[in-house]
Amino acid sequence: MQARPAARLTVLSGPSGVGKDSVIEMVRARSPWVWLSVSVTTRPRRDNEVDGVHYHFVDRAEFERMIRSDQLLEWAEFAGNLYGTPRAPVTARLRAGEPVLLKIDLQGARQVRKAMPEAQLVFLAPPSWAELERRLIGRGTDDPETIRQRFAHAREELAAEAEFDVTVVNDSVVRAADELVGLLGSPALL
Ligand code: 5GP
Repeated sequence: MQARPAARLTVLSGPSGVGKDSVIEMVRARSPWVWLSVSVTTRPRRDNEVDGVHYHFVDRAEFERMIRSDQLLEWAEFAGNLYGTPRAPVTARLRAGEPVLLKIDLQGARQVRKAMPEAQLVFLAPPSWAELERRLIGRGTDDPETIRQRFAHAREELAAEAEFDVTVVNDSVVRAADELVGLLGSPALL
């Protein structure tokens, strides 16, 4: 029998607007056994988002309480909002042998690298900077100052690609998702 890769923690990072959500949606359709961490954030909920599905939406006081009580595996501040990964569900899933996927920003990826050196860091890259700019503007949900901050943040994130174990280019959502499914591994045989 062929050996299967052990279940493990994978971090997916990449500049805002690169298409992480679309790729992850496709990965979930193909590999329902992969567990996707739900982050906590102080960012206001967008109309298309559901509390507990896309994020756990909390206020700043609650987020700070979670930091103080060490409930977050990592956290970061981005465009004036706090984002973090609750630690307990991640460790529980890994212990149960399920592949775990975290969708977090560069600062978070660096913290996970320190806290869990065995984690696999995957960088989702745009086919080109021009295409990324087009996607960042095209989203149409943010004001010009937020877009400016997203550009600056995206440039910083693109420069960090070398810190990651693998780069997946999002030239096509289906192709990128296939590549990621191959990297995530299967559930451990219990
Ligand atoms: P958005 O507000 O567009 O949903 O997310 C903004 C940024 O926050 C994205 O780059 C996203 O990857 C990042 N992000 C989302 N959740 C987390 C998290 O739990 N931790 C960290 N460090 N970044 C996160």
